[in-house]
Amino acid sequence: MAEIELHNLVKTYPGGTTRATDDVSLHVADGEFMVLLGPSGCGKTTLLRMVAGLELPDDGQVVIGGRDVTYLEPRRRNLSMVFQSYAVFPHRKVGDNIGFGLRMRGVDPDEIKRKVAWAADLLQLTPYLDRYPAKLSGGQRQRVAVARAIVMDAEVLLMDEPLSNLDALLRLSFRAELKKLVAELGTTTLYVTHDQVEALSLGDRVAVMRQGRIAQCDAPTTVYDLPAEEFVGGFIGSPPMNFLTGTVVAGGDGGLRLDLGAHSVPVPDALSGFSGRQLRLGVRPEAFGVDFPHHSEGLTAELEVFEPLGSSVLLTVALAGHQLKVQAPPSFRAEAGDRLRLSLPADQCHWYDPETHLLLE
Ligand code: ATP
Repeated sequence: MAEIELHNLVKTYPGGTTRATDDVSLHVADGEFMVLLGPSGCGKTTLLRMVAGLELPDDGQVVIGGRDVTYLEPRRRNLSMVFQSYAVFPHRKVGDNIGFGLRMRGVDPDEIKRKVAWAADLLQLTPYLDRYPAKLSGGQRQRVAVARAIVMDAEVLLMDEPLSNLDALLRLSFRAELKKLVAELGTTTLYVTHDQVEALSLGDRVAVMRQGRIAQCDAPTTVYDLPAEEFVGGFIGSPPMNFLTGTVVAGGDGGLRLDLGAHSVPVPDALSGFSGRQLRLGVRPEAFGVDFPHHSEGLTAELEVFEPLGSSVLLTVALAGHQLKVQAPPSFRAEAGDRLRLSLPADQCHWYDPETHLLLE
């Protein structure tokens, strides 16, 4: 095992007008499972390929296990890779596929046999060792690709969208298998995906990327609960975080309030510097309490769309000229046109600077 340190990695492709990675620094601890998450084109694969040695940075350093490997060939970096395309050899049986890298390395045949048996057992491939990949399901083929990577006993495992070719159900079960396997192996892992659920499910930490930079790198619960910038709150969560813009005004009780037009919500004292100025409020759809108005307290909204989703109900509501997504319990019933009362606990309010879009409180 080994830690990965990325220092100020800059990469612009020939002919590219913007930097694919723009001064990226990241530290993946020994044995940590780090996920790189972000929209298409944000630079995840470029970053992974620089760690692998398949791409050279214009500037910056890649250090693995304390060794500067920035300009070292891929095969000298002691890492294994699993890519989106299964990349299994169709003309080799499963067992031969799994042992391929070891044979290339000149490992003793008995040792290869032992390792292949171990990996096949871990990935439930033992019954298929003598089959050709064409006779396997997509999930089984993907497991062969993972088995081939883990037999190499590398210090570092790199994975680029390894589940993206699987159908939704298979993806779900293989995700859990992969999580269990990597936890057992304890290998330092860098994993690329654009799927937020996969990222939150698998990562010890998730590095959310945007336009060649890391917007936030934190534990999955933190990137979800406390997005460091509006982009993260908007990218993670389905539906994403709601954002409302209002003006900070003095409330009747001496405190500050965010004036949203017909309604207002309390603003923490710590943000008194924004008095008289605009502020952005971020709220997750499930953070609202919702019922019917029995009294005048709370925020009154009009229901525009009611969507029963099985495990929850999704409401599109209009509140003081803003359109919000609100997630209610599965038993909640209402109809378009109903008036609803929303409550908003203070600890579920996240405050963002309207200019920088960074988290304030
Ligand atoms: P995706 O999820 O779509 O694979 P990504 O986040 O992995 O995207 P990269 O593939 O790293 O993003 O691409 C980052 C930027 O670099 C993009 O603007 C992309 O168009 C550009 N890029 C990537 N590879 C090359 C290349 N070989 N030549 C020129 N530009 C490239």
